[in-house]
Amino acid sequence: MVERYWIETLGCPKNQVDSDKLAGTLVSEGMEHARSPGEADLVVVNTCAFIEEARQESIDTVLGLAGVKRAGSQLVVTGCMAERYRSELADALPEVDLVAPFGVSLTGTVPACRPASGEAPVDGGRRTPVSIGSKLRRSTETAPSFDLLNLPRPPASGSWAYLKVAEGCDRNCGFCAIPSFRGSQRSRTTGSILDELEQLTRSDSPLGEVVLVAQDLASYGLDHSPVPGNGRSAGRTAGRSRPIVDVMAAVAERVKWIRLLYLYPSSLDDGLVEAVLATGVPYFDLSLQHVSRPLLKRMRRWGEGERFLERIRRIRSLEPAAAFRSSFIVGYPGETEADHDLLLEWIADAELDWVGFFPFSSEAGTYAAGLGDEVADGLVAERIEECSELQDSITRRRREELIGCPVTVLVDALGTGRTYREAPEIDGVVTLSHEGSTTVIAPGTFVDAVVTGAEGPDLVARVIATRTDRPSLRDERDRRMSGAVR
Ligand code: SF4
Repeated sequence: MVERYWIETLGCPKNQVDSDKLAGTLVSEGMEHARSPGEADLVVVNTCAFIEEARQESIDTVLGLAGVKRAGSQLVVTGCMAERYRSELADALPEVDLVAPFGVSLTGTVPACRPASGEAPVDGGRRTPVSIGSKLRRSTETAPSFDLLNLPRPPASGSWAYLKVAEGCDRNCGFCAIPSFRGSQRSRTTGSILDELEQLTRSDSPLGEVVLVAQDLASYGLDHSPVPGNGRSAGRTAGRSRPIVDVMAAVAERVKWIRLLYLYPSSLDDGLVEAVLATGVPYFDLSLQHVSRPLLKRMRRWGEGERFLERIRRIRSLEPAAAFRSSFIVGYPGETEADHDLLLEWIADAELDWVGFFPFSSEAGTYAAGLGDEVADGLVAERIEECSELQDSITRRRREELIGCPVTVLVDALGTGRTYREAPEIDGVVTLSHEGSTTVIAPGTFVDAVVTGAEGPDLVARVIATRTDRPSLRDERDRRMSGAVR
């Protein structure tokens, strides 16, 4: 009988990519996707260890699945928590059969990594099949046998897909433990990225959008830079564009929309801004974290509010319709009332489309964990509420301003899609209506539509026509100028 697996993924898009690759590996080993965890022979939880809240959610998920999985099936914990707390997890969760850090097989089989042209094989394609259930053990004495980054990817199952171009991070932000368990940055070659893109597009439905992700995306490729010294600035020192720009160009030749997530603000130089604008998806996800200069210094990060605003204004002068997202940490040790007021003022001035606010989480082993000067939980909650209220009103207004505007929408599922202003799974969505038409528009199709309403973060739009060419912002503008849609 064919054995079945179930994978529950927590955390960020980078984890989703890892889960896709693990799923592809299990399928290549002869397993099938189960319809529910209760009918699976292998239940996997791909965990997140970013902050305390995420860890608690991971543990709750493990315990929840332990309660619904059928007797005899195997429960495996992998991902960031497994990497960071391997022995503690094995001791604390007797329900779990295997704790599998990065690169450790979930089943005892060594998957064949698929190196791109010009890349050395990661594991030589060694495969040692074993049956599920016979070899799994509640053990942490496991050695990495493959590189997740280079595992083959199954075809995309929807209109868009994440594509991870690098793993790890060379920065040293005061609050962040990621480099301690994801390691230094390791960028993939363009060849291996394009190979994976080719695997993703072997799908029955068209892939309309690729979202490039990495811990520090704009620094992609700088770990391979031949220029000695500061690797992150090497591209600029040599008078060349950042390596990520070349990857963007290559991916954009194959997919209509390409989007970048997680840009460290000092990396947003003119070359990168121009490259993003050239893709026709003027969406900027800036990892800002705060705007107070002294606090950013305590975070061991670059910048301050005024420099961020200058950058945003410059981008808007080049592309007034550019969309912006950012995230901020509230309650970092030493955050004063004045820092908080500065943040509120900045939020009001910047008028970003989307912003996430997160309470500071003290992570063992980080610089911030030893700073002291903590902000009380109650005060952090109050500050987050104030920031969120302000930002919600800005987001709502920016969405209402779109009513009556022509937009191009990528259809994600029947009746819903997104414009370039909404990143998948993070921002709002567009609900589509088709007056007087019963035509079903397939996911992966681009349509011209006009916005007829706004409901909080979401839009409602009426479909005018489907399109087969590459959507461009100029089309939206031409249609608005002609008054054709008002
Ligand atoms: S850039 Fe900073 S916050 Fe982001 S992964 Fe690297 S160290 Fe962590």
